[in-house]
Amino acid sequence: MKHEASFWKPLDGKKVQCNLCVHSCKINENGFGICGVRQNIDGKLFTLIYGSCSSMAVDPIEKKPLYHFHPGTSVFSLGTIGCNLKCRHCQNNSISTAGVDFPHMKEFTPEQTVELIQEKRCQGIAWTYNEPTIWHEFAYDTSKLVKRHGLYTVYVSNGFIQEDPLREISPYLDAINVDVKAFTDNFYKKVCKARLEPVLRTCELVKELGIHLEVTYLVIPTYNDSTDEITRFCNWVVETLGKDVPVHFSRFHPDYMMTDVPITPIETLQMAYNIAKKTGVLYPYIGNVPYGSYENTICPTCGNLCIERYGYSVDQSGMKNGKCVNCDAKINLVL
Ligand code: SF4
Repeated sequence: MKHEASFWKPLDGKKVQCNLCVHSCKINENGFGICGVRQNIDGKLFTLIYGSCSSMAVDPIEKKPLYHFHPGTSVFSLGTIGCNLKCRHCQNNSISTAGVDFPHMKEFTPEQTVELIQEKRCQGIAWTYNEPTIWHEFAYDTSKLVKRHGLYTVYVSNGFIQEDPLREISPYLDAINVDVKAFTDNFYKKVCKARLEPVLRTCELVKELGIHLEVTYLVIPTYNDSTDEITRFCNWVVETLGKDVPVHFSRFHPDYMMTDVPITPIETLQMAYNIAKKTGVLYPYIGNVPYGSYENTICPTCGNLCIERYGYSVDQSGMKNGKCVNCDAKINLVL
């Protein structure tokens, strides 16, 4: 649905500049931004996807992944089309690369979206599948309404957003999982057509704004899996975000333009997990693997099993009111 955009300014000659994500696209009349869903029409910037949904599902919150945020609850997941990054390994490329003529769209108002969440008996909404930043106007209006109904809101984001829009939506966002795709600018430039530093800045701002943060790092063989890079990433988490920020090391599967790269060996993920432990990350996890105890939340004080996860089933009997039942230590959790 067409809707006037926020976060833009007019330039000379009917050009406009979008200030929603870090690209700050300068767009000629009738042109589109890099995300493909924001158009300059007659010298004004419009979003073409207000309320236009390509994908929706009821998911366990663990699938986002968010392990320390309302564990065991169901979340209504919603996505649109387009993306501001151009990741060569995108697993959702069928929607992230789709244009505004994508045929399988459903239109919802913010009110209808809230009704859907309630109808599906979910505890909140996750803006996910593709980058939520690029439909900021709809996510903002809807998240405001969702919060008014006592439900939670979650972003699954690449973090390539400017400060002002993040600040604007922050009172209506409870949690964010930021994908840190690698810890070198070279990777971001070559694989995603983006940059690393703004993503790190977003993570810091999320912490400053008091939004619950978890970080995902997709480990890709030969691209971002060296011990040196993962050590630098973990040191940054501990020193800048804090040791209690959950870190999810996720397994890469060949996809899209990177089908020539093999699946991540379990040993590499274990290596990343061990580095995280060694550098002081209190809650490291391994994701996208079918077995193992690397999905469990262990009390950092006494080693008790606080939350046991198997697939998406969650046993929280090792924890009471956010504290370890064995030693009463507080776990970094939003309940
Ligand atoms: S949101 Fe889209 S149009 Fe705006 S700066 Fe980012 S890529 Fe460009």
